[in-house]
Amino acid sequence: MGLFLNACKDVNEYRIDPAFDVYVQRFEEEAAKRNQAFHFETDGLIVEFANLKDDQAGLCHFEHPIRIEVDRTYWQKISNTAGADAMKENLIFHEMGHGILGRKHLNDVFENGDWKSMMCGGTKVNNRPWNINYRRQRRIYYIDELFNQSISAPPYTTTQLLQDTTGFVNVMTLSFDSNKKTDTGWNLGDFSTHTMLIDNKRLKCVSKYTTSSALLLTVQNQAVDFRNDFSFEFNIECQSNSASDKYGLTFGINNTTNDTIEYFKIDRQQNMFMGNSGWYGFYTQLRRNELKPSGNNKLKIIRVGASLYYFINNVYAYQTEIELQGSGTNFGFIIPARATIWLDAMKIGLKGNAKLSPQTIDVRNLKFSIKALENSDQLRAN
Ligand SMILES: [Zn+2]
Ligand SMILES: [Zn+2]
Repeated sequence: MGLFLNACKDVNEYRIDPAFDVYVQRFEEEAAKRNQAFHFETDGLIVEFANLKDDQAGLCHFEHPIRIEVDRTYWQKISNTAGADAMKENLIFHEMGHGILGRKHLNDVFENGDWKSMMCGGTKVNNRPWNINYRRQRRIYYIDELFNQSISAPPYTTTQLLQDTTGFVNVMTLSFDSNKKTDTGWNLGDFSTHTMLIDNKRLKCVSKYTTSSALLLTVQNQAVDFRNDFSFEFNIECQSNSASDKYGLTFGINNTTNDTIEYFKIDRQQNMFMGNSGWYGFYTQLRRNELKPSGNNKLKIIRVGASLYYFINNVYAYQTEIELQGSGTNFGFIIPARATIWLDAMKIGLKGNAKLSPQTIDVRNLKFSIKALENSDQLRAN
């Protein structure tokens, strides 16, 4: 019976679940652009849903034809997030990299910490999650690399800051040195969601939330809008149950629950994470020696054009494109569930020519809002 089935098996079977069709087509198109011709409809390929074990997102079986399985639950989960198309493409292209291009896992990293290849996977390296910043200029590079491993490293993968990020003038500073509203920005007191007080010239916030949350101030001045170039920084310290709890700096829109915020988080194990709250998980996780595992760290984001530049204790750490669309004036911090955060020296800067004098921002009128965040998900293995 087995032999009979084997003899009759159609080695050119072409069976693609409609959910994956667009990505299989795209793979053929991207290959064709690079003078590599594939004709799966005649040569055969199977891509189907399965219930995979061991936290797997996808699995490639080296059969005739090549058969790829994608975990149904994971696919549905990422479908509801802002980065769904990029994440799905990354997953299907990775599996086709194995099955069609014969690529094996490659877990090298660039100088800036980015994965060198979308073929990262298999056995974890230093327990780093598989999250890959598969977006915009990096997406283009990763597809190039998928079809041509000898491609050279893109400029952004160095630790060199390639953009002039100087020329910002502070237009709002919160010193937290006294209980005056002009120093605190935030309202002090014991609220249902958190407690806020001044502690030895720093802002001390204790969260009562059971999830991570963002505490945001709305700056009542349209010049201080994240769609313009800006700089945003503060010193931050965190105490919480776990050294892997993530906390940090955030800005964005918070009018409805669908609005998203962009974030720059760290933990107390010298890791940084950047991302957008509408996405499934952080873009990627990077180990940074500049991060102090305890005490204060100074975090800073500078926007120039479409890019965000991340700094840790005045050292340039990373660059990537902003994901936030639209316009907004919310700036604040992210606090883990039931954690304590100390903030100091919070500053927002604009380009020197942005025509805003510091006194036009009345910090006594800052509005406050809070946004509950889902705990960041790690990407699954593939
Ligand atoms: Zn202070
Ligand atoms: Zn793989």
